[in-house]
Amino acid sequence: MSAEADRTYRGKCVDCGSPLELYEVDFEKGRRIMQCTRCGLYHFYKKNFFGKWKLLRAGRVSDLWRKPK
Ligand SMILES: [Zn+2]
Repeated sequence: MSAEADRTYRGKCVDCGSPLELYEVDFEKGRRIMQCTRCGLYHFYKKNFFGKWKLLRAGRVSDLWRKPK
């Protein structure tokens, strides 16, 4: 059920307010990327302790996500 809810999750772009669509998801690490359907801005989410998705940051490049610390 939770996985299904994740898939249908809707968010709004922090920049232009347009709907987001799922770009990439990693259930193992509890994170995902949503992309704005209008301006293409990426939104990086992480699942918190309570199982809710929390927006960490937004950026233009999806590769930001994979950069090692
Ligand atoms: Zn946007």
